[in-house]
Amino acid sequence: MKNICPHCGAELAPKAIACQSCGSDAQTGWSEGASVDWELPDYDEIIENEFGNKKKAHWPVIVISCILVAALIITFTSIFF
Ligand SMILES: [Zn+2]
Repeated sequence: MKNICPHCGAELAPKAIACQSCGSDAQTGWSEGASVDWELPDYDEIIENEFGNKKKAHWPVIVISCILVAALIITFTSIFF
């Protein structure tokens, strides 16, 4: 999907929120002299910031494994003693 600058007609990048040729963008009404960031924030970076603590996801598995091992030990001891 190609975007075209309504001000100067230059081709815009897919994520571009402003024209790199004339500096126009949607917020300033595509007028000259605009000074904004060229691209929207990186989506992957936002996801990593929100859900970056992946190491904690292993803890429930470790806890459940310990409980199962303990249950097996109790079962065996109750059978043999
Ligand atoms: Zn332009």
